[in-house]
Amino acid sequence: MRWRSKSNRDWLRSLPGVTEDEPLATRTSFGIGGPAEFFVESGRVETIEKMLTGCLEREIPYTLLGAGTNLLIADKGIEGLVIRVVNRDHRIEGTRVTAGAGLKMMRLARIVADAGLRSFEFAIGVPGTVGGAVYQNAGCWGKEMRDVLVDVCGFVPGAGKQKWDPKKLQLGYRTSALREGALKGALVIEATVHLERGDGEEAKRLMAKLTAERNETQPIKTKNCGSVFKNPPGDSAGRLVQAAGLKGLRQGKAAVSTLHGNFIVNEGGATARDVATLIQRIQAEVKRRFNAELEPEVELVGRWK
Ligand SMILES: Cc1cc2nc3c(=O)[nH]c(=O)nc-3n(C[C@H](O)[C@H](O)[C@H](O)COP(=O)(O)OP(=O)(O)OC[C@H]3O[C@@H](n4cnc5c(N)ncnc54)[C@H](O)[C@@H]3O)c2cc1C
Repeated sequence: MRWRSKSNRDWLRSLPGVTEDEPLATRTSFGIGGPAEFFVESGRVETIEKMLTGCLEREIPYTLLGAGTNLLIADKGIEGLVIRVVNRDHRIEGTRVTAGAGLKMMRLARIVADAGLRSFEFAIGVPGTVGGAVYQNAGCWGKEMRDVLVDVCGFVPGAGKQKWDPKKLQLGYRTSALREGALKGALVIEATVHLERGDGEEAKRLMAKLTAERNETQPIKTKNCGSVFKNPPGDSAGRLVQAAGLKGLRQGKAAVSTLHGNFIVNEGGATARDVATLIQRIQAEVKRRFNAELEPEVELVGRWK
């Protein structure tokens, strides 16, 4: 690969806190995947911006990582620089809440409930970060980020800091311009949401109830990536997988959950290849049985070849 010149490798090695061949599996909810060639964890926005600009100038590939709850990382790992974004500040101004990209959605859900704010209860179902939730327009129980989002402060390598409103972000069903549009490769620095004044204790009771219900119907405590597939229009991916008789289907150490058809569980030692193959087998069988296309919600990243 052309970018691996001595001067580029020297530059990467000079980054504050950088490590090489850093295991990533433990930084994902799946517990799967090879190492990052170069890895940095940072909560300092200016430092991350400088690293991204350096990567752009040197044509070094980079990958942003949040909580790793929507990723299937290849067994050979990720080339170039992986930056784990951990800026976790927040501020509350009236009913507006601004949170750093590295803050976990679940944590923010509790913070805003403590502050007597409502409309963010759905976030208790999203184990990822604010940055990952914007990227993915994450949502749960019929509500999603775009319902509450005011704007996002971001950084585009080569173009600098920018403000994006929901229109610019093109938030769609589990997607955005960051995932598949003009903002690909950009960094979410922080997001501002608009909530409603209300009874925070009631919000906490609702979140506890929703969490308890979810624990009954989804294999939340296993190693998984949440929903593997997006729901096709007018249907549910879990229903289709179940109707195709695929619950419990195995590939190596990966298996379709017997509790919920839209979850793949790492039973211990599953490889990314196991999961990717299982995904393809499910897609093929659901297509054959029902002529329905299942599009992955989980994102495959890294060196697959
Ligand atoms: C048990 C379980 C339940 C789940 N339930 C739900 C649910 O109900 N609803 C739902 O929507 N999702 C759900 N998910 C999936 C996941 O939590 C969300 O997609 C979440 O938004 C991913 O955030 P993350 O920080 O983990 O992102 P990661 O998985 O780390 O990354 C995902 C993508 O976001 C990008 N990204 C991360 N941070 C930034 C940043 N700061 N700037 C730019 N790009 C960034 C990454 O580059 C990557 O492409 C679930 C997952 C699990 C494991």
